[in-house]
This record gives sequence, structure tokens and C-alpha cells, in this order.
Amino acid sequence: MTTETTFASLALAEPILRAIADAGYTTPTPIQAQAIPQVLVGGDLLAAAQTGTGKTAGFTLPILHQLSTRAAQAPKPGRPRCLILVPTRELAAQVEESVKTYGKYLSLTSMVMFGGVNINPQLKALKSRVDILVATPGRLLDHMGQKTVDLSGVEILVLDEADRMLDMGFIRDIKKVLAVVPKQRQTLLFSATFSDEIKALANGLLHNPGCVEVARRNTTVEVIEQSMHRVPQAHKRDLLVHLVRQNNWQQVLVFTRTKHGANKLAEKLIKDGISAAAIHGNKSQSARTKALASFKDGDVRILVATDIAARGIDIDQLPQVVNFELPNVPEDYVHRIGRTGRAGSTGSALSLVDDEEIGYLRDIEKLIKRSIVRVEVEGFTPPAKADLMSEERPPRPPQGRGAPRQGQNAGQRQGQPGGGRNASGRAPQGKPAASRAAPSPTGTTPSSQPRKPRPPAALFSSKPGTRGH
Ligand code: AMP
Repeated sequence: MTTETTFASLALAEPILRAIADAGYTTPTPIQAQAIPQVLVGGDLLAAAQTGTGKTAGFTLPILHQLSTRAAQAPKPGRPRCLILVPTRELAAQVEESVKTYGKYLSLTSMVMFGGVNINPQLKALKSRVDILVATPGRLLDHMGQKTVDLSGVEILVLDEADRMLDMGFIRDIKKVLAVVPKQRQTLLFSATFSDEIKALANGLLHNPGCVEVARRNTTVEVIEQSMHRVPQAHKRDLLVHLVRQNNWQQVLVFTRTKHGANKLAEKLIKDGISAAAIHGNKSQSARTKALASFKDGDVRILVATDIAARGIDIDQLPQVVNFELPNVPEDYVHRIGRTGRAGSTGSALSLVDDEEIGYLRDIEKLIKRSIVRVEVEGFTPPAKADLMSEERPPRPPQGRGAPRQGQNAGQRQGQPGGGRNASGRAPQGKPAASRAAPSPTGTTPSSQPRKPRPPAALFSSKPGTRGH
């Protein structure tokens, strides 16, 4: 597909084109230009695309077209024609929001279903017509068990972020869903990565699929200014406060590795007079929604999130991301920083890196095929001891890509996303240190250290088993 492709040339129904125009989109993104025609002709699809590429509209728009232009067979309350499975509540909410946005001039109905919230409103909604159901697997299975949803009328099945669903241990749930949806259907599978497990799933699920692939995030992250500060873990909270003030950051998404770490950081920021909120799997859905809304509205300057809780969060023009700790899975770094620099805007991502995280840094730099610029912190004086005694090192998971992912074996469902793995990073606005010209791939450049000497080693000792839950 070329850049000349227009939405009109994709032959979408007029009410959909109108909704697209209302959304302000002028040109289909590459994934949309490739996927929409293939979905419109009714074939199965295997798509390699990450959040931020416009993939949601890539499947939502043609699905709306398909459903609105052909009659439902045996329509009944609680019997969806399209089922979209997603790994997390946030993503579920956002996908259904997209369905509503793009389908606003159509008479199709949609519903979102996830755990961690009262089931009664969902039961009520299922008593009406539901054309498009967006669900996380766990809660969907609950409804299947209670026979409150009927999947026998599913014409189109979508697995969105299939890799993440497998990572979160949903494979058995997905298989249970597959056992009850009609064999005769259209299936679309979206995944950012293609492990053997995903390939096996796709082989068993898709028939002669069309394949589309768009540039991976780790090639599109070029527009994001990436930098790092070397800093002992115990000084990170103070350093972040310093950076927020020094740069007058107004909207920063900070990733922490643990839920506990997210809470402590948000508390510290608030204590220092900086409005902040934490979102992670231990927070109720309403608290998470509220925190996210406050952050989007600008009432909360700093949103501290764990990886899974932040998954799918879509904030237009988010200028700054901070990795408070580096993720141990390098792809997560790409996902994290992909929250900024979206849809053509530039963004900045800063990582705070302790000595113990150098291995992760190396893996990340290998993946993104570039060095992350070491930047010297200006004017930061670590406290003599203030916060140090209560400091906790991030857990030290096994190094490298083979490391188990948080939540993988923890029986996590969508009710408990946000495992103990989380970190956050933020972009530099300080002056690059001399090391900028020739950054060391190992991150050991002395000039990137905060200027104060490190506190005694004892203050940095690990507390084994503290995973911040
Ligand atoms: P997604 O990858 O689906 O999470 O979408 C990322 C962002 O791109 C969302 O904020 C969408 O609203 C936006 N978007 C999707 N399609 C387009 C388009 N054709 N033009 C501009 N922005 C878009």
C-alpha cells in the first residue's frame, strides 16, 4: 500500500467514513491501509503490529463495515456477532471506546466485559442486543460458565495483543473460548511479537491468513529522544522530584517495576507537593480509571504505573516517559517509551539506571540497536540519608530475555494485572554529558553519575524477597 491510500478508497461504508473524519484522521496508517482491505474481503488475518500503529482502527473499522452491511443471523440478546479478546481491562475499555467512536453513526451495539468490577451491570447489558463484545478472557469465562453470554453467533473473532495474552497465562482460557465459537468464522490475530507459541496458536486458528506487518516499535522509536541517568536505586525518588521541578514537567508517565514501588513513589511525589497517582493491579478499576482521567485532564502531573497496568494506555501527545527502573524484558522498554512520541509527535524517554540494572540496559540497547545517551544530572544533591533507609531495591530477576515475565505463572487474570514487574523512565532534558558523543554501551560512564558520592554500600543492600506486592 502506498501513502496515497485514503479511507474513501478503502471502500468503507459512508457512516464509518464520517466517523473517521470526525476523529480527525485524514490518512490510514500503514497497518490500516494493509489490514482493512483484507478484513473486508472476509479472510483470516495475521497481523504484526504494536500499540501506537493504529491497529485498533485497523480491525475495528472493517469489522463495523462487515457487521453493518450484512444481516445478523438469529439475533438474540447476549449473543454477540463479533468477539474481541484482549489481555487487560484498560485495553478492553479503549478498544470498546474505539468501537463506539467509529461506529457512532451505525446502529450496532457494543459492550466491554472485564474482571475486577461488579458483574451485575454486565449481566444487565447482556440481556440486550450486543453486536460487538470486547472482553478479557477471565471474565468472559465467568459469563460462559453462568451461561449469560452465548458465543454461538460469533462471525468474527479477534485476538488482540495475543502475545500479551499468552504471557499473562490466558492460553487455556482462550482455548475454552475457541471451543464454543463457531468453526465457520473470520479470525484476526494481532500480536507484537511472534514466538513459537504464537505461531502455534495462529496455525491452529487461522485458515490461509493474509499477513500484514508494520514497522516494529523498536524501529519507529527513532522519533523518541532517549536518555538515561546513572543513579543508585536509593536516590531515584529524590532525583525524580528534582527532575520534575527542574524541567517543570507537567505530564509524565513513570514506570516502576513493582506495585509497591509505584505506591511509594506516588506518595513521595505528593509529599513533595507534586500531584501524582499510581495505577496498578491492586487498585480498583474505578480508582485506575479516575487516576488515568485526572492524568489526561492535567489534574495529576505524574502517573506512576506498572507495565501491565499501563498497557494500552493511550494518551495523545504524552511528552515524557520515565523508566524509574528498567524492565527486565527488553521489549517492555519499547512498549513503555512507545507511550510517547505517538502519531508523529516527538517525545522523550528517560531511564534511571542503577548499577544492578546494567545487564538490562545492555539487552535493551541490543534490541533497539542503539545506545541510550547518558546524561549528567545538573544540580542534584542526593540526600544524606533521608529516604534511604526505607528504600527498596527492585527485585533482581534472572537476567536476559529468558527471564520469566511477571504474571506468567501467577494465574493472573485481568482482575489482577500489573505484576510485580515495573519501572518507569523519563526523558532527559538536562544537558548531555560529555559521554553523549560516544556513549558507552555498558553505561559505566563516570560522568553520568550524580555528582555526590554514593552512600556506603550497606545502604544499597538488597532486601531479598521484597517484590513490592
Ligand atoms: P492504536 O495503535 O490502535 O493504539 O492507535 C494509536 C493512536 O493512533 C490512537 O490514539 C488513535 O486514535 C490514533 N490513530 C489511529 N488511526 C489513525 C489515523 N489514521 N490517523 C491518525 N491517528 C490515528
